[in-house]
Amino acid sequence: MKKYLIIFGLIIVFATVMYTSYSQKKPNKTNSQKASGALIKHLKIDPEIIDRETRVPIILYHYVRDIAPQPDNLGWGLSVPPSTFQQQMDYLVKENYTTITPNNLYQYLKYGTPLPPKPIMLTFDDGYLDFFEEVFPVLRDNHLTATNFIISNFLGREQYLDWYHLKYMVASGRVFVGGHTLNHMKLTEVNSEQLDQEIAINKASLEEGLDTKIDYFAYPYGSYDDNVLNALKKNKYKAAFTTENGNIHKTSQLLKLPRIKVGGGDTVQTFAEKIKTE
Ligand SMILES: [Zn+2]
Repeated sequence: MKKYLIIFGLIIVFATVMYTSYSQKKPNKTNSQKASGALIKHLKIDPEIIDRETRVPIILYHYVRDIAPQPDNLGWGLSVPPSTFQQQMDYLVKENYTTITPNNLYQYLKYGTPLPPKPIMLTFDDGYLDFFEEVFPVLRDNHLTATNFIISNFLGREQYLDWYHLKYMVASGRVFVGGHTLNHMKLTEVNSEQLDQEIAINKASLEEGLDTKIDYFAYPYGSYDDNVLNALKKNKYKAAFTTENGNIHKTSQLLKLPRIKVGGGDTVQTFAEKIKTE
């Protein structure tokens, strides 16, 4: 009898040890699922979450098109000529950069999933038609990826992408889509109902239209405040991109990721200088 008791005791101890080690290994996944709704709250109060930090250049482009130089003109400042864009991408390939997605950066900052050597992220705001005509072929030919932040009510308008373009590019695996509101309004200047609609309906329509999760967002005009941050959390966005300048990203600042503007007047040399991380 005593022998059975010892064996029984050992089984209990073994089972307890196994269960404990299992439940210690699990939290990452279960937590990530549970916490997705209250991400930032979770990040701020949970001491087990490490505030990781990394330097990754995240380029912010708008147009890639030829336009007459008018240094005072906003359109010119936001436009990179296609030939210059090609040179900038050639530079990335020559220097062995690897383009990463917003999700790659999120997985690193949240869970420590390693990033490739020389990571860089290419982002484009507003969903202009030239992205399909001038950018997508270059991405495809050079095995690069990019993310475009889409204003869903502008899809199909003159000079903007349409659903067909988006579906085609997303299916290629080279292009990722993020939210950029319904109507490109300054989110700090709308009422709370509009704020929620601009974020929620934009996200839902992109998710339905493209049959994919939309987890990343860029602020129109780089404009945000606490109300905007709360609306993003409520809508389960995992990270968001500002127009602030910088290349340092932190787990505690996932909704305030800085970027590096590249526009009219940038050459391949200024581009190379801007993306340096040392
Ligand atoms: Zn924009």
